[in-house]
Amino acid sequence: MRLFGHCCPACEGLESSLRQSCDAPALPGRRALFAAAVAGAGGVLATPPAVAQVFGGGPRQIAIHRLQTGESVNGTYWHDGRYDRDMLRQLDWVMRDPRMAEATPMDPRLFDVLATVQARMGAGSEAWHVVSGYRAPETNAMRSRQSRRVSRVSLHMSGMAADVQLTGRHSLELARVAAEMQLGGVGLYRRDGFIHLDCGPARRW
Ligand SMILES: [Zn+2]
Repeated sequence: MRLFGHCCPACEGLESSLRQSCDAPALPGRRALFAAAVAGAGGVLATPPAVAQVFGGGPRQIAIHRLQTGESVNGTYWHDGRYDRDMLRQLDWVMRDPRMAEATPMDPRLFDVLATVQARMGAGSEAWHVVSGYRAPETNAMRSRQSRRVSRVSLHMSGMAADVQLTGRHSLELARVAAEMQLGGVGLYRRDGFIHLDCGPARRW
């Protein structure tokens, strides 16, 4: 099982509209855009059915362990009808690109994907092991040069994707459960022992 220096070849196969959004230079402002979208929706963003089934209106927890840095974050990232800003900051940092020591505001819907799959797996407070989270453009470009399988753009660069493992859970089972949620993209990398999850359009590979 390769954990480090891996390339996520999956993050290709994106819609052209997503490619454009990945290329947009104003990525750090994405959370502001997300907040504006929420405000435009009257302060309430529709909760995806799968998330509502698992959490209802109750608090949403997440536990993340970053393999490259050994750091962990565990706590409630959504409560009382909104995302917890302090918790999101902690999550942004643990999801950073460790090669560049560069963080970005992650799309909070990615944590909904992770938390919902985690809960549906009955994993309780067991942590996701994150192989790859945010990927700086320089890191992605380097990997793209190293392997033709790596897309020049990916949702990792937009803070919308993570490559993850759950201890004791087979990647095949994780991918199956995640795909049933219809919350975003799901990629299975059996040989590498991880799955790719993102909060883009629901698709599977
Ligand atoms: Zn990936």
